[in-house]
Amino acid sequence: MKTAYINNVPFEIHEGESILSFLKRNHKDKVPTLCDAPNLESFGSCRVCSVDVAFSQDGKTKAIASCHTPIGEGQYIYPDSDNIQRLRKNIIELVLTDHPLDCLTCEVNGNCELQDVAAQVGIREVRYDKGENHLDKKKDLSHPYMTSDFSKCINCYRCVRACDEVQGEFVLSMAGRGFDSHIVKGANDSFMGSDCVSCGACAQACPTSAISDVFQSKAIKTEEVTRTVCTYCGVGCNLDVSTKNGKILSIQAPYEAAANGGHTCLKGRYAFKFYNHPERLNSPMIKRSNGEFEAVTWDEAYTYITDEFRRIIRDHGPDAIAGISSARTPNEENYLMQKFMRAIVGTNNIDCCARVCHSPTALGMQRAFGTGAATNSIADLEFTDCIIVIGANPTAAHPVTGAKIKQKFMKGVTSIVIDPRRTELARYAQYHLQLQPGTNVALLNMMLYYIISEQVEDKAFIESRCEGYEEMKAEILQLDMDELATITGVTKDLVREASIAYATSKAAMEFHGLGVTEQYQGTFTVQLIADLAMITGNIGKPGAGVNPLRGQNNVQGAADMGAQPHQGAGYLDVTSPEMNEKYKLFYGSDIVPSAIGYKIPEMFDAAINGKLKALWIIGEDVVQTDPNTNKVIKAMNAVDMLIVQELFMTETAKHATVILPGASFLEKEGTFTNGERRIQRVQKVVEPIPGTKPDGQIIIDIMNRMGYKQADYTAAGLLEEISQIVPFFRGVVWDELGDNGKQWPVAADGTDTQLLHVESFKRGKGKFSFFPYVQSREVTKHGKDYPYIITTNRELEHYNCGAMTRRTGNVEILTEDVLMIHPDDAAKNGISQGDMVCVESPRGKVDIKAEITDEMKPGILSSTFHFPEVMLNIITSDEHDTEALCPEYKVVACRIRKSKGKFKELV
Ligand code: SF4
Repeated sequence: MKTAYINNVPFEIHEGESILSFLKRNHKDKVPTLCDAPNLESFGSCRVCSVDVAFSQDGKTKAIASCHTPIGEGQYIYPDSDNIQRLRKNIIELVLTDHPLDCLTCEVNGNCELQDVAAQVGIREVRYDKGENHLDKKKDLSHPYMTSDFSKCINCYRCVRACDEVQGEFVLSMAGRGFDSHIVKGANDSFMGSDCVSCGACAQACPTSAISDVFQSKAIKTEEVTRTVCTYCGVGCNLDVSTKNGKILSIQAPYEAAANGGHTCLKGRYAFKFYNHPERLNSPMIKRSNGEFEAVTWDEAYTYITDEFRRIIRDHGPDAIAGISSARTPNEENYLMQKFMRAIVGTNNIDCCARVCHSPTALGMQRAFGTGAATNSIADLEFTDCIIVIGANPTAAHPVTGAKIKQKFMKGVTSIVIDPRRTELARYAQYHLQLQPGTNVALLNMMLYYIISEQVEDKAFIESRCEGYEEMKAEILQLDMDELATITGVTKDLVREASIAYATSKAAMEFHGLGVTEQYQGTFTVQLIADLAMITGNIGKPGAGVNPLRGQNNVQGAADMGAQPHQGAGYLDVTSPEMNEKYKLFYGSDIVPSAIGYKIPEMFDAAINGKLKALWIIGEDVVQTDPNTNKVIKAMNAVDMLIVQELFMTETAKHATVILPGASFLEKEGTFTNGERRIQRVQKVVEPIPGTKPDGQIIIDIMNRMGYKQADYTAAGLLEEISQIVPFFRGVVWDELGDNGKQWPVAADGTDTQLLHVESFKRGKGKFSFFPYVQSREVTKHGKDYPYIITTNRELEHYNCGAMTRRTGNVEILTEDVLMIHPDDAAKNGISQGDMVCVESPRGKVDIKAEITDEMKPGILSSTFHFPEVMLNIITSDEHDTEALCPEYKVVACRIRKSKGKFKELV
């Protein structure tokens, strides 16, 4: 045992720890610090944490900053010697000579680290003259969230380091020397004028109120703090939500959260004001024959709905009813919704938004590995030396994971980005394979070819763990690399180099997004990604694996709970007689069907064809977000009863027959499962606003009125039921989930699983597959008349249809959808920056403002669909992945011209 001493008392030292960490473990008195922070590298700038160190008992000492000095065997530490106390006091006195000392009116009064340290070191007076100071610094109030008042700055660099080390944005820096040292934003700009991404890491890191936010998140007025999980993306960031008098004040990120470690993006931290926005729906409504909505009681709404359900089942059968569950709501509510459809209506017509995002991932990974979920934890990024990002823009769509990947790229791991856009990560990557949209299969086949032909495959792994290799190899070696290079637009040499770099790394992690799945060959692309991982042995070990970046916060959970037409709760096959019996017995219902139900696009077709009579949609704005808007609207208007359960009057809600006002994630309890299979507790922060109900209770009310006895909603009760039918939830207990949740599969004894497929694959052997490249039908059918390709994307500031984020300050930061267009294309079509451009596809036309950027390749355009003013999905097609029917948002044939000023055309 290695020993060091504190005040001459011996203590064991831990390998690699600093003197400060050693003292934190073993010394009862807290060592004061100012520049130290839990999620930052130690810095040693303020020297307040200095301690006396000697190499013999009561020997000659030297004052050393404890935060960045390693503890050594035989050191004698004197943390509170007279010398050290004098030193600390002097440092704080010097700091205070340049501080306003207006504590009574300061936002952080009572929660200020400078105040705490001053009290701890015993400041009573400042012995130095006032002299020059920086007390006249102007406040920056330019931003909807971030604020700064640099008269309070103590030059500790915590904000600068948070911006660098946590977010990797480098917006904040220190300018000047000595007394002139000061923080600058970008080129000495305001928050709003700089490239700040509003993540708030600097505000959380600042020990005073020099950088803060409009919510005064460091003020002490909070009465209660509730830990919950963000509703905006599959990263699943933990949030500490402060409340007073039942109102939300602010949100901070808990440092010990496994999913986000003290970080969030601007959506999780700041975009919460939608929850009590005046436009929240606050009464059930029924659309009357004059086309107007009329507010009704819950009883009236329930009676209307159940009467209609009974009539439709009697006249048209249960398959004339369908449900779209919500990936934004907790597992328990998704479970109830699919149970309602299967056990009470008697149909498998249940689906969720996974259909329009990662259904090809689930199917492709199930085919290859047996499990359709991420193989690793995000924490595995620590163990990887190669990252490949395919068809994903995580710094915008999964910002906290994106920031971690960016940090790894900057620190020099082998980095490969496969994307038609020069995304932020592509700018940092060693290899950017900027392929034509829709050619993923061709490019991955090239990578497999070079890995085989260069003999850098992992033969031992292939032989011991996989099947189907020889067949795949024979097909791959037949391919013509020149032809594929022409198809993809990426040179053979670049693909070859990247393939060898990937295959020869020790542990390579893959991340993919909707640029993989929302394509004609989406499922096949996922299977080829699995091939890449298996051929190089990059699966089943830390730092290596296949990791879909799940879109909506609980899209993983919605599918796990059975909100899909072919697999029930726990992915059990609905067509299997054995599973059908199991479900019937478990639900106590003899009408659970065994025929596969409609997927979302099939629901729309069935509605238009008159086969579907009722559709119940929870928390999805399909009119704005699903492709081919005019067709979706036609389907919405075709059914006898469209129930929309929502927070706001969305574009879909406008077409409803009945509106049910649901509750937001801040007003209910349950669990979300994030993209790394982590089941985390969503805890109720505030009561639902008057007139609304938690969505699970609404479903249960309707279940009971349809004659099925279901106890009132509690997350604990529902989880207990779920754990008995979903095999990988067996050991999940509400009270045992703790702050950081558990990653499924969770065994009966509560043990969870960080890494999948360690010894063997869920399906036994991993299955190699080969798929030839096939051009998208969208291009073969329409490419001649519509020569441009538009591919949709996401922006950091907005989430999905924007119903929530457009009702927050985020809308001041990003105000509209824009069309990204290459300068050559803009010049060719006489388009200048900011012009309105008419984009026309075979489905219709929209007008969007041009943003000319070389992020795009010539011939390729890109835009988002966060704003109903543009309704970009008017032009997207209902072409889809051949296997999972995921729409092909990423390859849309179109033509462009400068707009004549006409706006969207709706049916
Ligand atoms: Fe975290 Fe995603 Fe929420 Fe941002 S949107 S705070 S990255 S969960």
